[in-house]
Amino acid sequence: MKITLLGTGASDGIPGFFSHSEVSEHARQHGGKNIRSRASALINGELQIDVAPECHHQLVRSGYRATDWTGVFFTHTHDDHFAYRELQYALIPFVDEPFAPFTIYGNEVALSAIAADYPDWPFEMVLSKSFEPIHHQQYTVTPIKAHHMLEQDAHNFLIQEGPTTLLYATDTGVWEDRTWEFLQDFKVDGLIIESTDGIHKTPYYGHLDARETVEVVGRLRQHGILRASAPIFTTHHAAAGGLNHDQLVDFFAPHGIDVGYDGLTFEIDGSTPSPEPS
Ligand SMILES: [Zn+2]
Ligand SMILES: [Zn+2]
Repeated sequence: MKITLLGTGASDGIPGFFSHSEVSEHARQHGGKNIRSRASALINGELQIDVAPECHHQLVRSGYRATDWTGVFFTHTHDDHFAYRELQYALIPFVDEPFAPFTIYGNEVALSAIAADYPDWPFEMVLSKSFEPIHHQQYTVTPIKAHHMLEQDAHNFLIQEGPTTLLYATDTGVWEDRTWEFLQDFKVDGLIIESTDGIHKTPYYGHLDARETVEVVGRLRQHGILRASAPIFTTHHAAAGGLNHDQLVDFFAPHGIDVGYDGLTFEIDGSTPSPEPS
């Protein structure tokens, strides 16, 4: 399974849209991996996870085509993830032929917002519910309940292709017990996990700071959910978190966690996992 992190920034990106914070100014000056567009990911070039406001640019920059999408999966309806109006460009008059080959998956709030705005959209739309697996072509995509935006069924996703399993956990917070119990039945070959708050924890319950990211990863390892060989990348970093890219790398390196960045592509293969340490 080939995974591309199209965007790895939190709600207002890095540099923060209207921010003069140290992290924002460092990013403006140094560019490169310090620049983070809003969080989204692409699996095998065909499963789009969230549509960020920068979706068009993200795809062009990484050399992908939206016409290769077979499914668009929304985690929740915060604006940094739910730029669904971008999907109108798949339709006439922006294309010559009626073009709606991909399925949109979203929770109740997401699907109702789309239906209210665009009652005539020809896309197939399928309701996603936490803990209920979705079969999409060769994939099984299972939403799990995030501890985030609790007024709706906000998801993280387990994405399985054959023997390979990815856990995509952006906007997650610290999971409630039922999510941990559900995860117990899985062996994860790759993990993408948020670390929004860096070293500046905010009062909002729905995000992890850097220390909590390490704790959640530790718990996934301890419970045998995360394979020892599984690559781990962070995402959804906020400018307000107080750490630039290199500082994030220094923080996470001792914990065996890599820091994600926009455009990063990596592959995982669950068919030959290396033996777990006893
Ligand atoms: Zn977000
Ligand atoms: Zn969110």
